[in-house]
Amino acid sequence: MVRVNEKVPDRSDTRQCFSCGAALTFNDIGAYKKFVNRGASTFCCQLCLCQKLKISHSMMLEKIEYFKEQGCTLFV
Ligand SMILES: [Zn+2]
Repeated sequence: MVRVNEKVPDRSDTRQCFSCGAALTFNDIGAYKKFVNRGASTFCCQLCLCQKLKISHSMMLEKIEYFKEQGCTLFV
């Protein structure tokens, strides 16, 4: 019997953007939780999130900075 290498999805390690496949940073995940759904288990990168929310990336970075100043633990 020939066994082909099955691709097992890796859930524990690196997370990827569900839209473009980019590797996600801590802040990408934080932004998704903050702007979309706190209880999400899949995430997208900041650029895809900006497109989704129809805001510019600089606007999102400003908001992230603001949340950081407020002591939000979703961002570093
Ligand atoms: Zn993306």
